[in-house]
Amino acid sequence: MNTDFCIIGGGMVGLSLANQLLEKEIAQSIVIIDKERELGLHSSGLNSGVLHAGIYYEPNTLKAKVCVDGSRRLKQWVKERSLPLNECGKVIVPQDQNLDPQIDLLYERGQANGATVEIWDEKKLKAFLPLCRSASGRALWSPNTAVVKPKTVLNRLEKELREKGVIFRLNQSEWEINALKRLITLNNNEKVSYSHLINCAGLRADEVAYKFDIGLNYKLLPFKGLYWQVKSSSKIKINTNLYPVPDLNVPFLGVHFTPSADEQTLINIGPTATPALGRENYYGLEKIEPLSAANNLLCLLNQYLINEGGFRKYVHQQSLLFLKPLMLKEAKKLLPSITSDDLIFSKKVGIRPQLFNKTTKKLENDFLCLNGKNSTHVMNAISPAFTASFALADFIIENNSKNF
Ligand SMILES: Cc1cc2nc3c(=O)[nH]c(=O)nc-3n(C[C@H](O)[C@H](O)[C@H](O)COP(=O)(O)OP(=O)(O)OC[C@H]3O[C@@H](n4cnc5c(N)ncnc54)[C@H](O)[C@@H]3O)c2cc1C
Repeated sequence: MNTDFCIIGGGMVGLSLANQLLEKEIAQSIVIIDKERELGLHSSGLNSGVLHAGIYYEPNTLKAKVCVDGSRRLKQWVKERSLPLNECGKVIVPQDQNLDPQIDLLYERGQANGATVEIWDEKKLKAFLPLCRSASGRALWSPNTAVVKPKTVLNRLEKELREKGVIFRLNQSEWEINALKRLITLNNNEKVSYSHLINCAGLRADEVAYKFDIGLNYKLLPFKGLYWQVKSSSKIKINTNLYPVPDLNVPFLGVHFTPSADEQTLINIGPTATPALGRENYYGLEKIEPLSAANNLLCLLNQYLINEGGFRKYVHQQSLLFLKPLMLKEAKKLLPSITSDDLIFSKKVGIRPQLFNKTTKKLENDFLCLNGKNSTHVMNAISPAFTASFALADFIIENNSKNF
């Protein structure tokens, strides 16, 4: 089979790239290869479903460039198809008085990035969310944050791409590459010859890039995101996203409350960010990779030892949030009236791959794309890559079109 583009990985990033390559009439033919039997078994199907509004990111970053536009476009796409969408906004509150200045910082970042943001005083916060506590009384309001059902979005995009003629080859865990000949051999010995290959393999993007001798200086480290839930019988009812002011030195947003896109009573709390023992170690001891896990912990050790931005405290705190009393303590900082009886452990779990730079010995905070000859590698599609996927795809296409 000959194809213009071969995309490795059918997550939201891979599918959005396929969609935009067709929209822009850059590709006549596209083949998407995924190792799983169905799509959505990793980040794009397992995430919180929050369409972020573009508040957190430093204005010169790629995240800042694509989040607001991507969020607006994905929301519109979801609306046009009448898929579940909860336009419930987001409240961000400082959980300690000394974090109050972050409200101003986030306000400035939000404005610089083109997001709509408002600072609320205590009266306005209490009127909207009487149960919520802000240590300083102030809050940041983001009216454009929304929630979708991520797997529903992904599956709909897959369906539309199939209708447009995109060819999917699923269940392909053992494909082989001859990069010089631009030829992939699939499990059943089928050959796919391509003009350009785009690696969107999410939590295995580094492994795929290595096959092309690209990105050898990077390694993805898996962090497990566990969730708790507010019981449907609980008196705690909030229909907005409620987030703490994040620690901007670490790549996670802190434990937050996220209502469902369509189930009135479902509120998720989480995700945590615990170093995982394998890239797909979702449950218990399944798919543990002991050597790799030990190596990953060594990578994190440096950041842990230098403790820049309070990394050590963050790791301790995050690693233990699967324990109910500790999760409750975090939750109470935002909703003081929540009790142990309100919480149940959720089966929902996701794994967030974070890109570790072997030279700086730090985690990369921004999206990163690397180019090879006839190949492009999306190496760090962390949050908000789901939200931003259409705009991120356009950015990748515009910046690589001379290589296509
Ligand atoms: C717990 C959690 C919560 C999150 N919350 C949010 C949120 O609220 N909002 C937001 O915007 N983002 C959120 N994110 C981030 C978001 O989910 C990701 O940024 C996004 O889904 C990345 O998409 P992707 O296509 O790059 O990766 P993936 O969805 O992981 O897709 C990669 C695909 O590649 C396939 N693959 C891997 N290796 C190979 C191989 N060797 N050969 C063939 N196929 C391969 C996999 O099977 C998979 O289907 C969250 C992530 C997690 C884990």
